[in-house]
Amino acid sequence: MIEIDGSEGEGGGQVVRNSCALSLVTGKPFRITQVRAKRSKPGLMRQHVTAVEAAARIGGAEVIGAAVGSDTLEFRPGAVQPGEYRFAVGTAGSTSLVLQTVLMPLVLAGGPSRLVLEGGTHNMLAPPFDFIERTFLPIVNRMGPTVEARLIRHGFYPRGGGRIEVDVTPAPLTAIDCLDCGEMGEGTAQVLFTGLPAEIAQRMIARLRKDLPYWPDEAFTIRELPADQGPGVILMIEARKAHVTEIASGFGQLGVPAERLAKTAAGRLKGYVASGAFAGPYLADQLVLPFALAAGGSFTTVKPSGHLLTAMALAERFLERPVVLEQDAQGRHLVRFV
Ligand code: ATP
Repeated sequence: MIEIDGSEGEGGGQVVRNSCALSLVTGKPFRITQVRAKRSKPGLMRQHVTAVEAAARIGGAEVIGAAVGSDTLEFRPGAVQPGEYRFAVGTAGSTSLVLQTVLMPLVLAGGPSRLVLEGGTHNMLAPPFDFIERTFLPIVNRMGPTVEARLIRHGFYPRGGGRIEVDVTPAPLTAIDCLDCGEMGEGTAQVLFTGLPAEIAQRMIARLRKDLPYWPDEAFTIRELPADQGPGVILMIEARKAHVTEIASGFGQLGVPAERLAKTAAGRLKGYVASGAFAGPYLADQLVLPFALAAGGSFTTVKPSGHLLTAMALAERFLERPVVLEQDAQGRHLVRFV
């Protein structure tokens, strides 16, 4: 039984999700105590319980403590069964975070799977669907498997109601090296909104034009979604480089001016582009599972986040292989899997 102190490192929900994924792949049971101890509302929240339940379902696991507010979770995995699954994440939960939990076990399973995930598709503090589709999955697919994700319907916090479908054709994960991101290609900035005044989207775009003055007019678009998919607003700025696409996002929040959200997201994207690193801060923590399971390979990244360091430490515990963080002459951080 692997014993994990949930208050260590980043101490958030990612520890729960990554532990479930690693446990299903390795067959090692685990116990987390002090779950999310550093958060203002410690213990499991609804969305973490859903992720644990999804993991238990695909892997026939026995679970103790999968309840809202629980500060201890015990997980004993069975055998992963590929197949067709539908997970309803609930109104506020992120479909991407449930996908993060079950994807690697299914990628390494003995047959294809189809997932239907219902809930939020563009939630704050989680990867927007577009990030999963165009930033994360292309790297996973480069490692061997074929994972295709489709957005059927958008879902924003707090109403949810979104739907994504994911087809998984498994394959062993091959180690790859992702050091250079390649030449900068096209950049685009899109605002999606529904159920809110169009003026919010227009103000976001006006600010982005100021912050990205060399981008052509056609790079900036506004798309209004059907009213029943909202209310909600998100801006996504996308930098397509030859070997990787980064998406910086800004989620509409009551009380936060549209201009401020746009300025922050543009600043993040520009920082990433200037760094020359392959993985931005979010992609970096999300690549740890596939790279660690490939037992090799490396990627460069921007300044390591708490989430990245926590994901690395957890992978080392389950897989008993080192994950090394180094810095190259250009100041880029290199994460190397042994
Ligand atoms: P907690 O509430 O305990 O902090 P959580 O379960 O909501 O945890 P985190 O542990 O913070 O979630 O993990 C969030 C995940 O979502 C991370 O993998 C992070 O990389 C990803 N993520 C967050 N924001 C974005 C974003 N804007 N774009 C892409 N990925 C994101």
